[in-house]
This record gives sequence, structure tokens and C-alpha cells, in this order.
Amino acid sequence: MNNQSTSATELSGEPPEETRRSQLIEVTIDSLAELGYVGTTLAQIAGRAGVSPGLVAHYFGDKDGLLDAAFRSLARRVSDQVRARLRRISTPRARIQAVIDANLAPEEFEQRSGTAWLAFWGQVLQVKSLKRVQSVYQRRTLTNLRSSLKKLVPPDEAQNLAAMIAAMIDGVWLRAALSGWREADSESARALLTEFVDGRLAASRAASDKNLGAAGTSDAAETRARPAPPAAGERFASINPATGEVLGYHSVAGPAQVNAAVRAAQCAQVKWAAMTGAERARVLRRAAQLLRSRNQELAELETRDTGKPIQETSVVDVVSGADCFEYFASLAQSLSGEHIDLGSQAFGYTRREPLGVVAGIGAWNYPLQIACWKAAPALACGNAMIFKPAELTPFSAVKLQEILLEAGLPPGVFQVVQGFAETGRLLTRHPGIRKVSLTGEVGTGKAVMSDAARTLKSVTLELGGKSPLIIFDDAKLDNAVAGALLANFYSSGQVCSNATRVFVHASVKAAFLERLLKRVSAMRVGDPMDPTTQVGALISEQHMHKVLGYIARGRAAGARLLIGGDRVTTGNLGKGYFVAPTIFDACRDDMAIVREEIFGPVMSVLEFTDEREVIERANATEFGLAAGVFTNDLTRGHRVIAQLQAGTCWINHYNVTPIELPFGGVKMSGLGRENGRAALEHYTQLKSVYVALGDVDAPY
Ligand code: NDP
Repeated sequence: MNNQSTSATELSGEPPEETRRSQLIEVTIDSLAELGYVGTTLAQIAGRAGVSPGLVAHYFGDKDGLLDAAFRSLARRVSDQVRARLRRISTPRARIQAVIDANLAPEEFEQRSGTAWLAFWGQVLQVKSLKRVQSVYQRRTLTNLRSSLKKLVPPDEAQNLAAMIAAMIDGVWLRAALSGWREADSESARALLTEFVDGRLAASRAASDKNLGAAGTSDAAETRARPAPPAAGERFASINPATGEVLGYHSVAGPAQVNAAVRAAQCAQVKWAAMTGAERARVLRRAAQLLRSRNQELAELETRDTGKPIQETSVVDVVSGADCFEYFASLAQSLSGEHIDLGSQAFGYTRREPLGVVAGIGAWNYPLQIACWKAAPALACGNAMIFKPAELTPFSAVKLQEILLEAGLPPGVFQVVQGFAETGRLLTRHPGIRKVSLTGEVGTGKAVMSDAARTLKSVTLELGGKSPLIIFDDAKLDNAVAGALLANFYSSGQVCSNATRVFVHASVKAAFLERLLKRVSAMRVGDPMDPTTQVGALISEQHMHKVLGYIARGRAAGARLLIGGDRVTTGNLGKGYFVAPTIFDACRDDMAIVREEIFGPVMSVLEFTDEREVIERANATEFGLAAGVFTNDLTRGHRVIAQLQAGTCWINHYNVTPIELPFGGVKMSGLGRENGRAALEHYTQLKSVYVALGDVDAPY
């Protein structure tokens, strides 16, 4: 070969033999797509490629050799895709999704390669070499699925579920191929699998919780029911959900790290609690100042980690955290007990004392705000806190730790441990920790409460919701539309208190929808770092598929899609996980999109005519986090709010959360309150002291 040549082959870096082989394989796939297995012969391939049959035989031997190579090439393409996706992802559920997504990718739902796959499947039982390729491909899929599932469900269940998922992947693909790609496309096939997997995992978790309850708290029962924890020290990647880029790696904290953190916190807490309220307040106030002075830097970090628009993080997340430290700094100075008059011979008093070492476990939607909302009251009351952020958003809690140290907090009083659910459980079960405050899903809340019961820890649980917003016919309509937007689309809809069930009085619904659609169609979905972007990315690919799955279910159940409904992939957005703001009309109370928490930008509009009827429908949910009412009749506003089963309510506004007002849910949405003076109750314990003023008389 001429070394000076700059042929395409050299530029591609492949030796010419390999290139020729690849070309012949591509021609074979074309032929299979057109003529099927029987019609594809060496002579046919040679004719199509413009080479002699001898040359084809030189490379592949006979027809079986050629088809074997072509089948391997198709299977390798899927394996490469799986590997590439798995390299970017570390959480078990997202890894399962990666296997599903690679197998059901758009390029596998396309006429040419799809028909070639079909031709191969038809021969697998007869041709040994094809059978071998198919077995390896199947084994790899099962191994990938099983290894992730084992971290989520007990081992025997992982085995069965992996087989079911693999069978469903093959099944939906085969049905789609046999229907000429009319029965399903790549997206709906993936949505179906996502829904199936989420459903099975939820069922497994529920069964596991039930087993745990039934079997008491015996270690043996739990080992059977719970998945094995991820290895301590294992690294996990953190991904920018807007770009798919890896932002950094973190190590999972295991028992050794958690024990060390608890020991350090126990020592530090004694000194911190011994300081006066005024001294503690000074540190917390300085932390608030530092948070404000670093607003932009922290907002950018939060935007990269969560995919939320900088437009939001720069005015909400950090500011709310700083407000919280300021508020609880003031309360640190006014913590007090009670004096109780017991007559001339005695009096009593109560001391409001810290609990000791407490744990905070955060969700991924407001990582810094959640860390601040938990740390500020805990520290104000003289506790030490060990905080575990959600593994999807590990960065800002570490920044908060740095800021608190810089503000003068003694080392050890606020510490961050990273990891998955298992690290959270190490905290929840630790005998040295006196309380856990969790923000997360209802299922996690139940698991935390049951784990905390072993050592009688108190818990604050800020859990999920499916809140109602009721718009009466006398409401100022523009305000109601603004309220519905605030209630649905902040953080791409990933807000626990969102009112995704919007009940609108029949007489104003048409006008309401017209104004709503005008504003939603003008919303900008885009790069979260761009200050003009109003809707950013969802937290992860897996979560995006969950949201798209709900949208597909809404459509299938007969809700009328008014706007949105799709993933947004324009420009560079295809690298991230963006979903357009979506509104469904003509919803019924029994639809999954109306009953279940979607945690995405999906609003369901429901019609009502009668006050009593709408209150009943609004309350017909297991959740009770928040609720809102828009009306110009103040008497009705208060009357309706008093009857709604929700912990946090708004009249003529939505989703504003001043630190002074307690925040939290009722029913399955949680226990306890964050913010306001109410939070002090959850981070202190009362000591009652009887003081005798006279002599002591004993009857013995
Ligand atoms: P999850 O419940 O999945 O996770 C919450 C946190 O708990 C994470 O740090 C998680 O770790 C950890 N965790 C999971 N399992 C356990 C366990 N058994 N023991 C101890 N810790 C555990 O919630 P998301 O992060 O998905 O957040 C979304 C949910 O949070 C939604 O339901 C939303 O409504 C709710 N939420 C509620 C709010 C409220 O104030 N009421 C506010 C914001 C969100 P890891 O992620 O590393 O697995």
C-alpha cells in the first residue's frame, strides 16, 4: 500500500480488508431487508456489491459465514450502545433503563435493520452459528439487567424480573416489526417497558415493606426482603441532566464512614449545644450572608446538577436557603421553656433541649434548599446534623458544609455523606442518631419510618403530593392562570407541592384555557444556563421516560392533549432530558395522570360546577401536601380551605413558601413541619423540672 495515500480508508483508520468486510456486511443487511434469508445468496451479495462471488467467499467462506458475520454486526451494534450508555450511568434503575433504551432505540425500530433481525430470528433454531450469536446477545442482556436489579430487589426476584424484562423487550420489538412498525414506535415501546419496570419495582418495594412490617424487625427477615447495599467506597458519577455530561464522581459512604461521622458529630454537638443561642445565631447569620454573596456561583452549580433554569435557581434556591438561616438565627436567641407555678412549696419549669445528632436526607429537586431547610432549624436548636443528599444531586450540600465552616461552625456539627438509599438507611438505623428528617417519596417515607422505629427516633417526613387547585367562577382569571402556571411548571414540574389537578368551574373553563394556552405556548424550553430559559431539563433519563410514560397513559385513557406531550430535542437539547410543558383537558378523576404523582410538567384540567362536589373530589386522594383556591369571595376562600385535607394551602396564590410559615403535609404526604416556629418542636425535646421550695416529707 502507498504510505503517502490519503484514501477514505486511511482517513477512517480502518485497514482496507476490514472496510471491504464491513461494506459486504452492510450489503448483506440490505439484501436481507429486501429478499429475506432464502433470497440472500453469495452471488446476490457479490452482484450488489460489484465484486466477484469468489471475493465474498474469500472473506466469509459460505453463506452461513456471511450471515453469521452480519448477525454479529447487528448484535454488536446493540451491545456497543448498551455499553456506551452504561458507562455514563451508575444508578441501578437508570442502568436498567439504559439496557431497555439501547435495545429499543429508534435505529432498531426501522425497516431495514428490523427486517434483517427478523430474518435472523427465523433461522436461529436451524443454524448453529446464529444460535450462538443469539445466546450471547441474550445472556448479556440478562446479565446487565440482573446485576442492576439485584441492587433493587431480592436476588431471586431479580432473576425473574430480568427474564421478564428481556422477554418484553423482545416481545414489543417483535410485535412492532410484524405490524410493519405500525403497532409501536421506539418511544412508545420504551414507555411501555418503563411503566412495567416502575410498576414491578414499586410492587416489590411495597411487598418488601409489608414483609418487614409482618416479620417485625428481625435481621433475617430484612436480609431476605431488602436488596444488598452498594459497596462502600464505590464511586458514582453525577450527570448534568441538560447535557448528559459527567460533572464529577463521589464515593458511597458505608458503615465505617457513617460511624466516623456520627462519632465526630457526637463530640462536636456537645460543644455546639453549650454555646449560647446568641453565639449560634451569629454563625447562622454569617452563613446566610455567605450564601447570598455566593448566590450566582451556587445557582450555576445547582443548575448544572439539577437541570433547572438559572432564572429560577438564581432567585429561589439559594435565597430561600439564606432566608431560612436568617430566620432560625433569630429563633436561636429566643428558644425558651416555660415556668409553671405549683403553689408556695414548689414550681416547675421546662427546658427546650437539643436532640443530639440528627440526620437529614434530601430529594433531588431542591438540593440546596432542602439541605438549608433541614440544617438551619437543627443547628439553631443546638443539634449536629449529618446530611445525605440524593445521589442524583450531590454537589450543593458539600458547598453548604464549606460555607458553614467558613461562617464559624465547629467542624463536625454539619457533615455530608454521599450515597444511595443504603447510606440513608445506615443513618436511619444508627443508634447514635436521634432523629431523621426526610424529603422524598411516600414509599421512602414508610421505609424510613419503619427503620427509625428500631431505635425510636422521631421523624419528619416531607413526602409526595397530588395537590388540587380550585378555580371558582368569580376568580380574577389572569391571577388564576398565573397561579396554575406557578402550580405546575416551576422546576419542570418537579415540585412536591405542585397542584397538578386543576379544577376549573365549568362556566369559566373555556376562557381560562384560552389564556392558559396562550401563556404556555410562549414558554421557553431550553439550555438551563441561558437566563431567558423558563423550562429546563428533568432530573434524569429514567425520570423523563417515567413522565413520558404518564403522558402516553393520559392519551390512551382519553384525556385531551391541549399542548406539549413530547420530549424536546431541538438543537442540543436531545443530549438532555427535556419534556415540553403539557396540559391535558377532559380529564377524569380515575385516570392515572390525575391520581398519581408524575413529578413532571404535566397539568390535568378537570371541570366542576358545585362547591361541595369539588371539595369532595379534591380530597379524594391519599395525598395531602398542599391545596389552593382562587376566588374573590373571601368567605368562600376560607370556608373551602378549612375543608381541604392538606397541610399547606394558598388563597389566591400558589407555591410561595415564606420561611415564617410552617410547610408540610397530612395523610400520606408526611409528618411534622419544616419552617416556622413549628420546626423547633421537631428539633428539640422538653425536659420538665420540679423544684421543691420546702422540706421533704416521706411516709416511711
Ligand atoms: P426518594 O424518596 O427516591 O429519595 C429521597 C432520599 O431518600 C434520597 O436521598 C434517597 O437516596 C434516600 N433514600 C431512598 N430510600 C431510602 C431508605 N430506605 N432509607 C433512607 N434513605 C433512603 O425521592 P426523590 O429523590 O426521587 O424525590 C422526589 C420525591 O420527593 C417526590 O415524591 C416529591 O414529591 C418528594 N418531595 C417532597 C417534598 C416535600 O417537602 N413534601 C419536597 C420535595 C420533594 P438516593 O436518591 O441516593 O437513592
